[in-house]
Amino acid sequence: MHTTALVLFSGGQDSTTCLAWALNKYQRVETLGFDYGQRHRVELDARRVVLARLRERFAGWSARLGEDHLLTLDALTQIGGSSLTEEVAFAMQADGLPNTFVPGRNLLFLTLAGALAYRRGLQVIVTGVCETDFSGYPDCRDDTTKAMQIALSLGLARRLLIETPLMWIDKAATWQLAHAEGERSGVPDGGDALVEVIVQDTHTCYLGDREHRHPWGHGCGACPACELRKKGWERYVERGPDASVRP
Ligand code: ZN
Repeated sequence: MHTTALVLFSGGQDSTTCLAWALNKYQRVETLGFDYGQRHRVELDARRVVLARLRERFAGWSARLGEDHLLTLDALTQIGGSSLTEEVAFAMQADGLPNTFVPGRNLLFLTLAGALAYRRGLQVIVTGVCETDFSGYPDCRDDTTKAMQIALSLGLARRLLIETPLMWIDKAATWQLAHAEGERSGVPDGGDALVEVIVQDTHTCYLGDREHRHPWGHGCGACPACELRKKGWERYVERGPDASVRP
């Protein structure tokens, strides 16, 4: 029986939804973020704000929400070459991947999450990677995640489960899932409350734009991350929060 989890939490829409999902499912939940020299520090600020909001507005979750961990990963900046860590414009690479791809990033994240979970005695790692609506990042694939689960369980000699609640749902369904998890929290109007926190306080935009506020949140409105979030939001509003979701 799994009762404890470590959520990879970046302060974005996807990982906040995963955190809500984990808080409804597990007795004790800790969070992990990485400072890997992101060009835009707003992501790291968003993490703190979102955690504070969840604690304020969801008493049940607050009781389950344990320590937040932030690990530094300078090596990714040293390797460089990504528009997320360097001052280069967004572009597609010759191999068909966008240059927002940071090679090995999720592999490192999961490895360090495994090490931390081991130390903290946490049984499950939850990550918001997704094969639907994704940018083609090979380290977000279901097979990659499953391979990492096996590698970590063997390498740590302790069974670790990696859960990916968003793997097969699109961005509209991610909004619906957030609404459903908020409802499940037991807080009156918790669904709307969680969607409001995600709109207002999470950060997704690749350009780090917090000046422009749209119905779906802050962002430049034009980068691939904003485009995905916006399109998902529009489909979510069209369908309504209660359309069927398969987490
Ligand atoms: Zn943007």
